[in-house]
Amino acid sequence: NTRPAANAIIQPGFKFEDMGIGGLDKEFSSIFRRAFASRVLPPGIIQKLGIQHVKGILLYGPPGTGKTLIARQIGSMLNARPPKVINGPEVLNKYVGQSEENIRKLFADAEKEQKEKGDESGLHIIIFDELDAVCKQRGSGAGGGTGVGDSVVNQLLSKLDGVDQLNNLLLIGMTNRKDMIDEALLRSGRLEVHMEISLPDESGRAQIFKIHTSRMRKDNAIEADVNAEEIARLTKNFSGAEMNGLVRAASSWAMSRHFKVGSMATVNPDVKDVKVRREDFMMALEEVKPLFGVAEEELE
Ligand code: ATP
Repeated sequence: NTRPAANAIIQPGFKFEDMGIGGLDKEFSSIFRRAFASRVLPPGIIQKLGIQHVKGILLYGPPGTGKTLIARQIGSMLNARPPKVINGPEVLNKYVGQSEENIRKLFADAEKEQKEKGDESGLHIIIFDELDAVCKQRGSGAGGGTGVGDSVVNQLLSKLDGVDQLNNLLLIGMTNRKDMIDEALLRSGRLEVHMEISLPDESGRAQIFKIHTSRMRKDNAIEADVNAEEIARLTKNFSGAEMNGLVRAASSWAMSRHFKVGSMATVNPDVKDVKVRREDFMMALEEVKPLFGVAEEELE
């Protein structure tokens, strides 16, 4: 049940779910087509078609919806180096005074390889999480009035616009607050592809649930009365991360049947046969609640 947005020829038997990402087939295909596909073409063809690689993309949406998953998975599909991951607040807090230097270092490997190998250089991916923390409108004093936010944005801009075109670089910015991102960063030639990653719908949640219980299924550690479609119906507004949290909470209920708690906690000898049941998920649903989307509904 793949839903390729591009006309790419999907290899027989391939399913997006096998990559551990549920409910984001359309977004995945679209990001791949717009930001990554050109990276697979040989340099000769790139020149012939006059293609300019996309240098930056922005993934935005609520927390825990799979933004980081997508970025990492597409990187590994393209055989890129493991991405460099950096976090907005970390840049501001930890490296006050040397944040610019820190950003410069982030790009250094890509710059070096580009100089040495030109078009033959491999792809370097930088994942910039919580980009909003450094990219509040310049001049607004992000970074606690130190002006650090401004200089980080300026440094990013100068790296993206650099005189020496960094053709081997892709910057993936992530945020829960697109409205907070400095517009200068979102222009063409910078973080120009914007993709919203929203909370999964019911069928997305069923897919995510199946992904996070696939190991249990394989190991025969889940009862047949657990139904992904039923759980998906009961988890409105859950993010992917919250679906994962639900599965872990249910496992803890299953384990709890095997504990004997006295002055010492011990475990029943039959603990090998621990199986998660529907009732465990019902208990877990009492505990794990979605963070987002609920308030709006209560207002309706
Ligand atoms: P944040 O904005 O908080 O950085 P994010 O959108 O980058 O969040 P991830 O880090 O990708 O979220 O997701 C956290 C975890 O939640 C993942 O490691 C995975 O276990 C689970 N998860 C989230 N979305 C999905 C999904 N669509 N399919 C499968 N698992 C998911």
